[in-house]
Amino acid sequence: MAPGSISKVASPEPYHSPTMPPKVACAAPSAVDTTTLSPKAQKLIKEFENMPWFERKFGFKSPIVWFNVYVAVVGHILAFGGALIYGPQATWSTWIAYLVFYLFSGLGVTAGAHRYYCHRSYKARLPFQITLMLFNCISVQNDLLEWCRDHRVHHKYTETDADPHNANRGFFFAHMGWLMMKKNPQVLIKGNNVDISDLRRDPVVMFQRRHYLKLCFVFSVFLPILIPCVCWGESFAVAFFVLFLFRYVMTLHSTWFVNSAAHLWGEKRYDGSINPSDNRFVSFAAIGEGWHNYHHTFPYDYATSEWGPRINMTTMILDFMALLGLVYDRKQVSQDAITRVRKRLGDLSKTTGLVATS
Ligand SMILES: [Zn+2]
Ligand SMILES: [Zn+2]
Repeated sequence: MAPGSISKVASPEPYHSPTMPPKVACAAPSAVDTTTLSPKAQKLIKEFENMPWFERKFGFKSPIVWFNVYVAVVGHILAFGGALIYGPQATWSTWIAYLVFYLFSGLGVTAGAHRYYCHRSYKARLPFQITLMLFNCISVQNDLLEWCRDHRVHHKYTETDADPHNANRGFFFAHMGWLMMKKNPQVLIKGNNVDISDLRRDPVVMFQRRHYLKLCFVFSVFLPILIPCVCWGESFAVAFFVLFLFRYVMTLHSTWFVNSAAHLWGEKRYDGSINPSDNRFVSFAAIGEGWHNYHHTFPYDYATSEWGPRINMTTMILDFMALLGLVYDRKQVSQDAITRVRKRLGDLSKTTGLVATS
C-alpha cells in the first residue's frame, strides 16, 4: 500500500457487524461458574457477594472503591479551585501551552490509543507510533494495553454488564462513576475472550507498559510544570494548577463525554438500534470522537466519521501526517457500504446538518 493511501472497506467485518450485535447474558455474579475463572475474577465475585449493607441499601450495583471516590472529589476541588485562583494570573504563553498539551494529550488518546492501537484503523511509521505513545502518557488514562482491552470489550459487549462503562447504568456511571466502583465480574470474564495478542507483540505498547508510571510523571506532570517555569518565568503554582491539574481533569472529561453523552444523546443515522449517537459537542471537545453512532457501526474507519475532517481535528492531523508519509493505509468505509447499512438500520432523515455525500 502506497504511503498516504486510503483503502476502502466494502463491507463490515463480522466481528463488528451491526447486523450481529453481540449480546452478553447479564447473569448475576453468583450465577457464574467460578471454577473456571481466573483468581482475579473469583476475588471480584466474592467482593460483590460481600458488598457492604449500606451500599446495597442505597441501591449501588457494585462495591464502591472509596479511595478512587476520594481522589476524584479532592482532585476536582483542587483542579477547579486552582484554575479559579491561578487561571487569571497565568500568562498568555501558559494558556497557549495549555491548548498544546490538551491537543497532544487528546491525540495520544484519539489518534493513538483509540484509532491506531485499539482499532488498527490505519498504519503508522515507527516514529509516529512512538510519538503517539508518548502523547498517550500525557493523558494518564491507563497504559495502552489496558485501555485498548477495555475499549475492545466496550465495542464487543456495548451496553451490557460486560461493558466497563455501560451507559444503561446512567450518565454518571458511564461518565466517571465506573472508575469509582469495582468492575462488574462480567467485564473480566468476557474481557478474557477479547484478543489483545497484537498489543502484547507490539514493542512500543510493551515498552510503555513497563515504564508507564515514570513516563506519565515526566510527560504529564514534570514537563508541563518545568516548561512554563523555565521558558517564560511562570510561577510554580500557576504551572501546577493550570497546566498540570486543570488541563488533566479537562482532558479526562472530554474523553469521558464520549462514553456518557455520546452514548445517550445525539443522532443515529447509521444504526438506530444502538445507544451510541453522533454528538457534535462531544466531537468538538474530544477532537473528533463524537461521531459515535458511525464509529460503533463502522469501528475500523480511521476517520470515525463519513465527514472527513469536519469537527474532527484528529482526522485532520492524520490526513496531514499521511501527506508527510508517517501515516498510510487509512481504512475508510465505502459510500456504498454506508448507504446499504443506513437503509437497513439507520435513520435516513438525519443529515447531521452537514452535506451528505450519499
Ligand atoms: Zn462507545
Ligand atoms: Zn472505538
